[in-house]
Amino acid sequence: MNILAIVAHPDDVEINCFGTLLKYFKQGHKIFIALTTSGNQGSNLYNREEIGAIREQEQIDAAKFLDAEIRFLRFDDQRLIDSLELRRDVINAIRWANPDVIFTHYINDVSLDHAVTGKVVTEVMLSLPGKNIMADEPPISKAPSLFFFDTDVGLNFQPEIYVDISNEMESKREAFSKHKSQNEWMENFMKDTRFDAFMEQLSAFRGLQAGFPYAEGFIGHRIHGYLPNYRLLP
Ligand SMILES: [Zn+2]
Repeated sequence: MNILAIVAHPDDVEINCFGTLLKYFKQGHKIFIALTTSGNQGSNLYNREEIGAIREQEQIDAAKFLDAEIRFLRFDDQRLIDSLELRRDVINAIRWANPDVIFTHYINDVSLDHAVTGKVVTEVMLSLPGKNIMADEPPISKAPSLFFFDTDVGLNFQPEIYVDISNEMESKREAFSKHKSQNEWMENFMKDTRFDAFMEQLSAFRGLQAGFPYAEGFIGHRIHGYLPNYRLLP
């Protein structure tokens, strides 16, 4: 299968669905990652161009564990809006990956970039097979299953299904550690934000709920013709 994660920022994959993607990868499936922004406002230590480039490289390094193909859409961080341009590029990204399963942000996430990314993904699903849709990539005929992954620190999110990632946790920590720039600026400017806790404690908390040492939680998104197939989860 082709598995696609569409996220807003470098590090969102590693926090929310890396363990699940790694399980798919170990089973021989192909992993694709698309990012709506490169997190180009995610630092006070560099200018926007510099931090955008640094974070893209960090994402490339983290994705090596998954041998994933990456597509950067490069909209500006922290002010993502639902526009025709974003919809076109998200449609292109989904068609590029031709996925069987899609993971994205929950539409009630408190982060604007997360919520807009998730909302646009859900709303373009019915445009994937249309040849007259404004997009560059050719239409696809598959009906992918769409799953929302966790929100920032789990707020407003109650998973309906869990994936045991206990055997993937060590690699998840290692991949997450590639996002050095985020740890670096939070240590300097957001001292009360524990960056490692986003990933570590959320994985442990979802594991606690599911009866595993570590887990990732998901909610399936229901659209007519595109009902999520829970049996496709690893
Ligand atoms: Zn994010």
